[in-house]
Amino acid sequence: MNMIDSLLLKLAKLDEQSLTRHRRVVETPCAPRVVVGGRPLLAFCSNDYLGLAAHPRVVAALREGAELYGAGSGASHLISGHGLAHQLLEDRLAEFVGPHLESARALTFSTGYMANLAILTTLGMDADAEIFSEFLNHASLIDGARLARAQVKVYPHADLAALSALLEASTSANKLVVTDSVFSMDGNMAPLPELLALCERHDAWLVIDDAHGFGTIGANGRGALEHFNLRSPNLVYMGTLGKAAGVGGAFVAAHASVIELMIQRARPYIYTTAAPPALAHALLASLDIIGGDEGASRRAHLQALIAQLNGTLKLKRWQRIASQTAIQPIVIGSNEEALRIGAALYGKGIWVPAIRPPTVPVGTARLRVTLSAAHTQEEVAQLAAALNELEELR
Ligand SMILES: *Cc1c(COP(=O)(O)O)cnc(C)c1O
Repeated sequence: MNMIDSLLLKLAKLDEQSLTRHRRVVETPCAPRVVVGGRPLLAFCSNDYLGLAAHPRVVAALREGAELYGAGSGASHLISGHGLAHQLLEDRLAEFVGPHLESARALTFSTGYMANLAILTTLGMDADAEIFSEFLNHASLIDGARLARAQVKVYPHADLAALSALLEASTSANKLVVTDSVFSMDGNMAPLPELLALCERHDAWLVIDDAHGFGTIGANGRGALEHFNLRSPNLVYMGTLGKAAGVGGAFVAAHASVIELMIQRARPYIYTTAAPPALAHALLASLDIIGGDEGASRRAHLQALIAQLNGTLKLKRWQRIASQTAIQPIVIGSNEEALRIGAALYGKGIWVPAIRPPTVPVGTARLRVTLSAAHTQEEVAQLAAALNELEELR
């Protein structure tokens, strides 16, 4: 068999299992109303939870950033790519989540994926370090743990007793507990206060991936640390800037010593071109919105939509996962049925992605509904009515 044939065989196997993925080409800005292939759709699939991706103030700031700083950074941060906009953004982010940390500093990355690789390969760089990773963690944390030299132990979802036993048994002087704050395919939250107490008891770092919390939870949008009112020098916080913040990139905030070591040693920070400075400039506008009155009213509207959806979905066969966040999955089970229902919704002009293994465990294929402050009550009512009707039809 030649090389191409063996690839075609792999692709054919995916197809047999209803696991082939297709991209749709979106012709309009990220918003509840999009156009795909000339056709208008009502979308419940982005992570643009506050509706900032196409917000006029953020778009204007991006344009202004390009005028001030040009299009590209030209080099990595440690060579000559670290611009004034990057520095101002780091300082603002450190201030933003600083009240929850000790001697806080922040460091920005091009993506959350790279930020997670950087945290785990830096803090887990020694072979005698130990990483304790939550079962439902995001792929970027799993990959970071694989890339680190540390030993890796996976603890069952939200199982504090199992984690406690693992920490108790550990002889490592360098322990990292790693978890998503809001689980990206379930929408539920990790028991962060209990996890932090365990980490403090065992002198472990608690690495929190707040991709879905930053901007959307906490009275001032500061994310999971504010939501749970956490404060500890053990915290290593990762927030992404392409979801609620509406632009792109990510940051790590932690004790200054953690950040300095990442600048010196984190390969996903050092060996890559710095993100365009205009993005950092646009993010300063996003942070103004998130931390101000407009952010608060957008979060309140989002919470009202979440309550509305939960109050109006009348499902008998499909499973709901209790979630107070913008991620509202409907677990259908089989890949084939999840795809069929996704296609039926699409036929009605409603776009909700069907999520299949390996992104979620086998037998839990689901529709991943995400709500945004940019949605209206009427749009959420339309989604609930369509789902109720499709479930009845079988
Ligand atoms: C999206 C996401 C990431 C990756 O962030 P990007 O900026 O998109 O690379 C990391 N962790 C979680 C939980 C996410 O949902």
